[in-house]
Amino acid sequence: MVLSGLMVKRLQKKAKKTQHFNQILLGFYLCGRMISEVIQTDLCIVGAGPVGLFAVFEAGLLKMRCHLVDALPQVGGQLSEIYPKKPIYDIPGYPSILAGELVTNLMEQIAPFKPGFTLGERVEQLNKTETGYQVITSAGTEIQCKAVVIAGGLGCFEPRKPSIANLEAFEGKGVAYMVLDPEKFRNKKVVLAGGGDSALDWAIFLADVCSELTLIHRSGTFRGAPESAEKVFELAKEGKLRLVLNAEVKSVQGSNHLEGLTVSEADQESDHHIQTDYFIPLFGLTPKLGPIADWGLNIDKNAILVNTEDYSTNVPGIYAIGDINTYPGKLKLILCGFHEAALMAQSAFARVFPEQKLSFKYTTVNGVNAF
Ligand code: FAD
Repeated sequence: MVLSGLMVKRLQKKAKKTQHFNQILLGFYLCGRMISEVIQTDLCIVGAGPVGLFAVFEAGLLKMRCHLVDALPQVGGQLSEIYPKKPIYDIPGYPSILAGELVTNLMEQIAPFKPGFTLGERVEQLNKTETGYQVITSAGTEIQCKAVVIAGGLGCFEPRKPSIANLEAFEGKGVAYMVLDPEKFRNKKVVLAGGGDSALDWAIFLADVCSELTLIHRSGTFRGAPESAEKVFELAKEGKLRLVLNAEVKSVQGSNHLEGLTVSEADQESDHHIQTDYFIPLFGLTPKLGPIADWGLNIDKNAILVNTEDYSTNVPGIYAIGDINTYPGKLKLILCGFHEAALMAQSAFARVFPEQKLSFKYTTVNGVNAF
């Protein structure tokens, strides 16, 4: 899915909201490629975490175009997904910066180089072509590039699936673990489950979208942000959503599509039935290396072995930077990933422009020349 209105909304929410930020995103949205055809680019970057984003800047300085793919529906990797509101203290030049704010700044910094984005899709296959690589995502999006940069961090974040009878049988038929397009739920009956930020944020958002919305949580209090929890209680009072607390979903039922679920409440003697079109358990995400393990790369303990001269892998034309790689002395830090991105770009230049000689220039001398 190319950066869409939903992605823009989620990104706005997860990162700092500023007018400038909105303009940057709008820029990406408008120049974003509404893709049904094959995407052509110089570098395909797998992973839009901080390191993948900064790689766009280093590549852009050398006139290389980039397309980023991320399995998550927003950019920022661990910073957006795990700790957007935490301050980071070891980014050079920033005594302290919120993780979400760093992502916003990176998006601003790479805006002149007009990267393309495919979000909410996992890269499944890399195939060698005459001129570079063909990259295929879980949704069938095809990207043709001259080199691949894997900035996959800890791997793909995969949803934690609760143990509920029949759940897997209804995946894609009413059971979903992420909200990729809220419009799908317009005027539908929806049940959410969970007590973290994701469950609260989506409960607030979907309260105006669904014909009937229920939030089920196994405790009486929420783990997510207190202001979001307060808003959810307010919406429940206003009758915009139904809260079922101290309760657990036991099983889901339906024929071709989900039709309902059985809920057990702590203070009720017998289980009861809720009719619904969709059930979305939001119990967090866990990282898994996923398809990266199948691309013929040398792997050591879930990380890709690289040459520290240019962060190339054992497969020519494939680089690995950031948390996903390993080498003697590796530190999984953002600033180390930024350094790796700079060296990778110098090496990738020779693949993208084999007939050109690279002359090293400072940005203070050359500036940032937008595409
Ligand atoms: P990530 O941020 O992990 O992003 C990788 C992205 O790749 C993910 O979005 C993932 O969905 C995507 N991906 C993976 N596989 C695929 C695939 N096959 N297809 C599509 N997409 C894929 N570091 C510091 O320097 N300072 C700190 O203070 C600091 N504090 C931290 C606090 C916490 C709580 C945590 C969890 C980490 C902290 N870190 C800190 C570490 C820092 O977050 C990581 O070093 C950084 O996120 C690595 O960036 P990355 O871009 O390499 O990977």
